[in-house]
Order: sequence, then C-alpha cells, then structure tokens
Amino acid sequence: CGIVGAVSNRNIVPVLVQGLARLEYRGYDSCGVAVYANGLQRARSTARVAELAEQVNASHLEGSTGIAHTRWATHGAPLVHNAHPHFSHGPGADALNRPGRIALVHNGIIENHDQLRTLLQAKGYVFQSQTDTEVIAHLIDSRYDGDLFEAVKAALEQLRGAYAIAVFCKDEPQRLVGARAGSPLILGVGRDSQEHFLASDAMALAGVTDQIVYLEEGDIVDIQLGKYWLFDRLGKPVAAAQRPIKTVH
Ligand code: GLU
Repeated sequence: CGIVGAVSNRNIVPVLVQGLARLEYRGYDSCGVAVYANGLQRARSTARVAELAEQVNASHLEGSTGIAHTRWATHGAPLVHNAHPHFSHGPGADALNRPGRIALVHNGIIENHDQLRTLLQAKGYVFQSQTDTEVIAHLIDSRYDGDLFEAVKAALEQLRGAYAIAVFCKDEPQRLVGARAGSPLILGVGRDSQEHFLASDAMALAGVTDQIVYLEEGDIVDIQLGKYWLFDRLGKPVAAAQRPIKTVH
C-alpha cells in the first residue's frame, strides 16, 4: 500500500514513521519499519502508525538507512508476522539463527509467488509469512553475491505481477535499491543531496524534500549515501535529463 525509504547520514527513523503517518489516509491493516543498526532491526504493528511510533521510541530503534511500509493485505492475513518489512536470513534450516541479510517492502501482487516459493523452499529457504512478498526477499538473497543492485536486477527478471519495492542489505548498509512495475515509486532528492528517499507517493516526503524524480515503468534506482543512479527496464543507465528533478508543491 505505502512505501517510504531512505539513505541518510542522520537517524532517519522519525522521517520514515512520519512518512507512514502521511500515507495513513490511504488505509492499511498493518505497518512496519526496518533499519540498519548493527544488523537488520525492525518493528511491526497491526495497530496504528502511532503505536508503531511508540514501539520505535521504547526500543530506541535508530539507523540512517531504512524502509517502512503500510500494508493492505492481499496474500496472508493482516497479522504481525505478515507485516512488512520482510527479511531473508539466507537458506538452511538454521537460517533464523543467523542475522537477517535482506530487508524488503513491497506494494502490489506477485502472480507467480507459489511457483517461486516452491523453488526457493527447494533451495532451503524457510518462510516466515504467508505473503507473496516474502518470495521477493528470498529471491534477492538467492541472487546476492556482494552487489545488491545486481541481485535485485536478476531477481526482478523472475517476477510476474505488479510491484514497487524498496530493499536493503546488511552487507551494504548505506545502499537502498528501488524498482517499480505496475505500482508507483518516486525518488526524493534530500537536503544538500546528502540523503535520498524512496516513496510510493511524494506526499510521504512532505516536509523532508520537495525535489522529486518520478520513476517510469520498469525503472530501477540504486541509491548510495549522497548519490543515486537510475536504470531503465532494459538495465540501461538513464541520463539525468530523461528523469528530471521536479519541484512539488
Ligand atoms: N501483496 C502484498 C501483501 O499482501 C503487498 C500488499 C500491499 O500492497 O500493501 O503483503
């Protein structure tokens, strides 16, 4: 339903949670936020964004790279373990004893989730939710070899359906990759260009930045601290002039 993400050099949790609050009007059944803080950390709630904010304050969740989501369940009941962000801990029966590696939020529906789940289970991935979304996290993990952008690009080729995603990896904590096909996603260029954002709607970033790049169908964006690169559906770099920064009011 709603996505917010950031790579910054300050604690970005308040911005992520405020972004979710600005998307609340769209409706949702659960919400969550994940950041990099000595590993992947998250908080999730089936109550209001205000309750998520309380959890975040109580647990002192802080980090400068993170993603957040309001969910409108399509696959899997609206329960905490189905709320996004979803993690992949890698394959193996003991995977959950290892720290999470991939954190992901998703809007939309993955049509071939059953087929992908069977394939990933055969590779040893253990599923923690009933969502279609979780297959994307494990698929990216299964393609990960030190370069998150390449892993996402490879994984997307196997997906059928509609998606906007935002994903980060504990091994590259100042990097965030976003992609869209069938669901909206925008890039927000932050103050002094030292922080950049992803969101499903520019409204989520009101008060943070009014400098917006509208991604086109099939685009993938690779954000690293203070920089970003855009690629089109064919994986070709997109010139800045083709996706100009627009000022929103
Ligand atoms: N299909 C996903 C789920 O049910 C995402 C739903 C959404 O767009 O919020 O978890």
